[in-house]
Amino acid sequence: MVASSSLQNTFNLTVIGKVHSCYKEKFGIPRQPGLVTQATAYIELLPPYNRLDTLDGLEGFSHIWVQFIFHACLSEQWKAKVRPPRLGGKKKVGVFATRATHRPNPIGLSVIKLGKIHQQDKRVFIDLHGADLLDGTPILDIKPYLPYADSLPDATGGFAPEATETKPVFFSALALEQCESYKQQHNRNIKDLIEQVIGQDPRPSYLKEQLDREHGTLLWNLDIKWCARKEHLEILALNPA
Ligand code: SAM
Repeated sequence: MVASSSLQNTFNLTVIGKVHSCYKEKFGIPRQPGLVTQATAYIELLPPYNRLDTLDGLEGFSHIWVQFIFHACLSEQWKAKVRPPRLGGKKKVGVFATRATHRPNPIGLSVIKLGKIHQQDKRVFIDLHGADLLDGTPILDIKPYLPYADSLPDATGGFAPEATETKPVFFSALALEQCESYKQQHNRNIKDLIEQVIGQDPRPSYLKEQLDREHGTLLWNLDIKWCARKEHLEILALNPA
């Protein structure tokens, strides 16, 4: 990958890894990391970076900065002003005042809880907890999160001062049964994952007023069918994707 600056310098950026994630489509991915703690993903380092010595010492840090490419947004142009979902999709602000995916350089940045680092044959993996990354995301860089420098308790949050409130999620009898049988087969707590993901209410602003309309969200190999009721969100069924 080659990026040019207005100073006419050219920088070579290399993809160092690829993400494997429970999120198989953009719809449903939380807007920031750490909001869905049940989300699991891992980075697989790509050759020639697939060496454990590139990660030596990282295990002492609880969190990492992950820089990545919004690879599923490359076909669309960026705009100077955007409508962040946080402002109900109504008000526009400058692209650099947001974490929008469509930007002049489609680069994302997330602080993510570090899990195990492990190797299998020549493949090196970094487990991540609570990531906001789509399956297949190309990784540009990994750095340790430094609490003494990166944690800023006095910082202010502009138009996004805190996380949005989650909504209560109810499961149909069928969905509950399907969660249980999925857990037995795959040893994964899919129910808690669904509850956290759908509880964020990922519907776009223009659909937020509509009740009882069926939505589908892909998680792992499942198409989660759900809909919004008056006071809660309801999980209807877990279908094979
Ligand atoms: N934390 C990052 C940041 O601040 O740069 C990402 C914030 S962005 C608002 C989060 C959204 O990016 C997610 O809700 C998901 O829809 C989208 N996303 C995640 N991985 C992506 C990818 N590889 N390509 C395109 N969009 C992606």
